[in-house]
Amino acid sequence: MVKIFIDPGHGGTDPGAAANEIQEKNITLQISSIIRDILLSEYEDVSVLMSRTGDETVSLDSRTNAANNWGADYYVSVHINSGGGSGFESYVYPGVARQTVTYQEIIHQKIMEHTLLSNRGMKQADFHVLRESNMDAILTENGFIDNAADAAQLKDSSFIDHLARGHVLGIAAAFHLTAKIGNSQILQPEPTIATGLFSVQIGAFSEQSNAEKLAFQAKEKGFHTFIKQENAQYKVQIGAFKEREYAEELIQKAKNAGLAAFITID
Ligand SMILES: [Zn+2]
Repeated sequence: MVKIFIDPGHGGTDPGAAANEIQEKNITLQISSIIRDILLSEYEDVSVLMSRTGDETVSLDSRTNAANNWGADYYVSVHINSGGGSGFESYVYPGVARQTVTYQEIIHQKIMEHTLLSNRGMKQADFHVLRESNMDAILTENGFIDNAADAAQLKDSSFIDHLARGHVLGIAAAFHLTAKIGNSQILQPEPTIATGLFSVQIGAFSEQSNAEKLAFQAKEKGFHTFIKQENAQYKVQIGAFKEREYAEELIQKAKNAGLAAFITID
């Protein structure tokens, strides 16, 4: 049995960061509750304890004491960032064992694969929950509540689902959790076309310089770009996914940024 302690940051009289009509404590509870539900419903031999399951005030000491007393194998603290910036970052305690960093790498990577947040990197910090927990621990900062674009995503339930799913897939990979029979299609959804990748293309040109110009504009707007040469054309793409829904999300993001985007199947 793998014991995962999930800690929704803040709560009760401590709202955490607040901006754009949302409060950190509510978003962290949403993400954490979905992480718990997916872990328990889709995986064998895992148990979950949460530091809070409602809008309760829980001190930092109570949180780490609960995890330590329970004998958790892993501590996952979920937060939303603020203070100017955008994107996702994760933390472990400075100088921790290689194993803790390996877990961080796996989980960080899965979350990056399952959201379109920009990657602010894997970091280390002397946070209470990382320092006082006796087991391997990670703290995730899931977007910036005071950034309009991040906040808009945090208000979107499908984005919250993706954040939670990224955490789950990371925890499952790190701890070699076994999926319950019958749920494998949820874990690895098949693309509509078995071998295809859904690429998001924003333009195609016969002149390379025109493709480069568009790629530069997209980059300025924060997209990752690459130019693919095919059939005497230079195609500007901003992403490729195994799952169509992620391609469609990126298209929406591109459209919001004023780019004409569509899916091509490679
Ligand atoms: Zn926080």
